[in-house]
Amino acid sequence: MSSLKQTIIRGGLEGLYFSGAHVALKPFVGGIGAILTLHHVRPPRPDRFQPNRLLEVTPRFLTRVVNYLRRARIDLVGLDEMHRRLTERDFRRRFVCVTFDDGYRDTMQFAYPILKAAGVPFAIYVPTSFPDRLGELWWLVLEAVIARNDSIGLEIAGRNRNFDCATVADKRALFDELYWWLRARPTEAEMRGIIRNLAACYHVDVAAFCEELCMTWPELAELAADPLVTIGAHTVSHPMLAKLAPEAARSEMDLSRSIIEAALSVRPQHLSYPIGDPTSAGPREFAIAAELGFKTAVTTRPGVLFRSHRRHLMALPRISLNGEYQKLRYVRVLLSGSATAMWNGFRRVEAA
Ligand SMILES: [Zn+2]
Repeated sequence: MSSLKQTIIRGGLEGLYFSGAHVALKPFVGGIGAILTLHHVRPPRPDRFQPNRLLEVTPRFLTRVVNYLRRARIDLVGLDEMHRRLTERDFRRRFVCVTFDDGYRDTMQFAYPILKAAGVPFAIYVPTSFPDRLGELWWLVLEAVIARNDSIGLEIAGRNRNFDCATVADKRALFDELYWWLRARPTEAEMRGIIRNLAACYHVDVAAFCEELCMTWPELAELAADPLVTIGAHTVSHPMLAKLAPEAARSEMDLSRSIIEAALSVRPQHLSYPIGDPTSAGPREFAIAAELGFKTAVTTRPGVLFRSHRRHLMALPRISLNGEYQKLRYVRVLLSGSATAMWNGFRRVEAA
C-alpha cells in the first residue's frame, strides 16, 4: 500500500476517533460483533524496508488489544460459538473472534502465550502446503529479491525492463509497483511463474520461507490439542481462488480439509479464502464453500458483523489488526464499525 494511502487511512481513523464520530455512529454501524484478522505476531524489527509490515503486530500490541476487549466486556468467542450466535440469532452480547491466517510459528511462540493466559479462544487457518513445506510465500520472495539487489530485470508485456532499487525509497516504490502488478496477473499460474523466475535469477530460496516461518504439523498438533484453538482450512497452495478454474478452486478448498483431517484428526468446519479480497474470492467461491458444507468462511473484506450476515455465512468480513496502525484508538474506531461503514459506503453486506 502506498504511503499516501496509508496517510489518508490514518487521517480518517484519527478524525473518526478525535471527533467522537465513532461513538456517535456506533449504534447504527457497530453491528453485533467482529472477526479480527492477524498474520504475524512478533517483536518489532529495525529494518527500514519492510513492505509486508502490515501483516505483523507486536506481542505488546496484541496484549493491549486483548486487555481492551476484556475491559470493554466484549465476549471473546471461538468460531463455532460465533456460528451458533449468528444462526440462533443470539445477539444479546457483542463478541469478537480472533483469527490467524497462514499458521506462522510466531502464532505459537508469541501470540499463543498471551491468548492462553487470558483464556481467549482463537482460530488458525492453515494452508496445508505450508506445514508440508511446499508453500510459496511469494510476497516474501518479492521482498527478498528487492531487498538484496540494487536493480532488477524483469520481462513485462514482452519487453525487458530494468528497475533501480538501490535506495530504501526506490525499494518501497518498486515493491508496491510489482506487488500490485503481480496481483493483477490474470491467472495464479502466471503470477507464480514470474515469482519462480525471479527467485531463480536472484538466488532466493523459495522453500526456505516455509521452513523458517511456518509451523510444522507436530507444532500445529500441539496447538490443535488445546480447546481454545480452532483449526480452519485456508486451501492447499494459498492461491487467489477466483483466478482458478472451477474444479481447481473446489479441490483446493476440499482437499485442504481432508489433508488437515488426516494430519491432525480434526475436520475443519471453517474456511478462510487466501488473500480474501474481491479479486480472490467472490460469489463462485462462496457457493463452493457452501456446497462443501463449511459452517463459516471469512474474507479480508473489511467490516464488522451485522445480523444480516447470518444469511451470508460464506462471505464474512473481518477487521485486520494491521501492523501499520498499531494504536488502540484505531482498533476502537474499527470495531465501532464507523470506518468500515464509510469505506463500504454504508453497505452492510458485501457478498457480490
Ligand atoms: Zn493467507
